[in-house]
Amino acid sequence: MDHSAYYDHAVGADPVAELRRRQLDEPREMARLQAVVDAVPADARRVLDVGCGAGIALGLLAERRPGVEALGLELSPRAAETGRRLFGVSIVCGSADALPFEDDAFDVVLATELLEHLPHGVYDAARAELARVAPRAIITVPFREQRPQVQCPACGCRFHPFYHLRSFDDAALATLLPGMRRTALDITWTRGFFPGIRTARRIKAALGHPAPLPRTTLCPQCGYRRPPRTDGAAQPEAPGPARRWVNGLMARVPRPRRPRWARALYARR
Ligand SMILES: [Zn+2]
Repeated sequence: MDHSAYYDHAVGADPVAELRRRQLDEPREMARLQAVVDAVPADARRVLDVGCGAGIALGLLAERRPGVEALGLELSPRAAETGRRLFGVSIVCGSADALPFEDDAFDVVLATELLEHLPHGVYDAARAELARVAPRAIITVPFREQRPQVQCPACGCRFHPFYHLRSFDDAALATLLPGMRRTALDITWTRGFFPGIRTARRIKAALGHPAPLPRTTLCPQCGYRRPPRTDGAAQPEAPGPARRWVNGLMARVPRPRRPRWARALYARR
């Protein structure tokens, strides 16, 4: 399956609304992206964002650092078009494993939440390409993710709902980019799961009640997708008062922290 099909399905009919829901209206998401942009060294003039999606990081970069020449590369033509329209940023279409640029064409290369999605073969080629086009790199990936899976009700295939194909730990990140050394590693933490909740979900799935596929997900094996909502609502319905009360209560229960995202900086040896 063409991987940009996942993106196109996930953003649905209104890419801008989906972008708002997932990122633009999510302060924590935006703060995380801002931290990536802030990690771009002050002397960098040419920056490439590989797998830039709709170019939110490029938009932030243009805002903060008007002197920087920033370019995005994105597999999905639809995401690229959305970014150009929304943020006025430059995005070319292409694949991370064959970057259409000369060696050291940039001062810094970014790849945010890209590498965990890349299939065998593409992954190693993309790592080499990132290390080739710039002497410095900034990479973000989920950190030590346990990669929960959903199950397709049509064909039984199990897969990560956002198609994460690999997990990254400290050791993997230390040697991620060939010929480069890691110069910094920042971990973003989040609240952990309630004890036993994952076991309970697994037992439920084993008894024939797997968690439903998110509507933004399509099965990578057979292409199954949940039918669109028929009530005309574009957004998921807001929780009722009882649900909000329970959510508020749950939010107060102390839970262990767990690592969520890693931001790693690299420089050529
Ligand atoms: Zn399927």
